[in-house]
Amino acid sequence: MDFIDLRSDTVTRPTDEMREAMARAQVGDDVFEEDPTVNRLQELAAAMLGKEAAIFVPTGTMGNQICIRMHTQIGQEVILEERSHIFNMEVSAMAAVSGTLARPVRGEDGVLDWNTIEPAIRQGNPHVADTGLITIENTLNLAGGIVIRIEAMEEICERAHALGLPVHLDGARIFNAATALRRDVSDLARPFDTVMFCLSKGLAAPVGSIVAGPKDFIRQARKVRRMLGGGMRQSGILAAAGIVALEKMVSRIEEDHSNAQLLAKGLAQLSGIRLDPERVATNILVFEVNGSINAKELQNRLKERGVLAIALNDKQMRMVTHKDVSRADCERAVSAAQAALPD
Ligand SMILES: *Cc1c(COP(=O)(O)O)cnc(C)c1O
Repeated sequence: MDFIDLRSDTVTRPTDEMREAMARAQVGDDVFEEDPTVNRLQELAAAMLGKEAAIFVPTGTMGNQICIRMHTQIGQEVILEERSHIFNMEVSAMAAVSGTLARPVRGEDGVLDWNTIEPAIRQGNPHVADTGLITIENTLNLAGGIVIRIEAMEEICERAHALGLPVHLDGARIFNAATALRRDVSDLARPFDTVMFCLSKGLAAPVGSIVAGPKDFIRQARKVRRMLGGGMRQSGILAAAGIVALEKMVSRIEEDHSNAQLLAKGLAQLSGIRLDPERVATNILVFEVNGSINAKELQNRLKERGVLAIALNDKQMRMVTHKDVSRADCERAVSAAQAALPD
């Protein structure tokens, strides 16, 4: 059976154009900084984000963890939203790799603001760990692809910097956030010291993420990437797809968002699902399943009907639109959900 795969935008397959670019890519040894295609991707990414420099890393997790390692010292705390990827989905790497402790805070609807962050900051008290870093996730995946406004991010960064604290953006889906806000991605990246984003999600590249920031930081990040086992060789093969992702795939993200709206409006009609389509701002829907069926059961029943989605827990379910699901697929997914839910 051909599944309609709404589990994540990570399932996107590379386009024909990416495969051709990969086959033709000029390559060299990137540990010697001699891969022209990797260099081109890094320059392009830095320019698009308005940062001095960028580095290509195998995964977003490695990108985030390089930044945490660089920004913090052992024994410090990192303030983050309690639903953030760094806290929940990176296998405690911030503890294992950097010796840091997470200080989770909860943003109203997933949106962090300075008033939520400030009480969690600790500086100079001999009994407690100092705050070393603040991280913001935009869009916030597990909260339903929530978008944080530029003004809110600017205020957080400005006030953090005044206290000498760096701020890192986990912008795995920063292009989705920029599309939803109708702003240039560089406007979203500007206030942050460092930014990580993924080429391998909605932008449909097979592998890879980018860390962007100041030149000296990125130079040192090369060493940390190497330490973590991410020093790759002829990685221009992968970077070639990343270049196509940045040049050709950004403008179609809008389509994923409108498909997510269609899906949300359809699902919101069904009894047994609680979902406000107005809160779906990007390509991720998180909704509640109520009544006589739990989310895991609904996941199984949808699968029997050809639709893959993920139950985040007993109550919540996540669906993600991307280039490999069409508008018609989203309509079929709504019908499948209607059939799967008890009367
Ligand atoms: C996917 C994702 C990452 C990185 O994931 P990898 O699978 O390691 O590439 C980081 N942050 C967020 C919010 C993500 O969704």
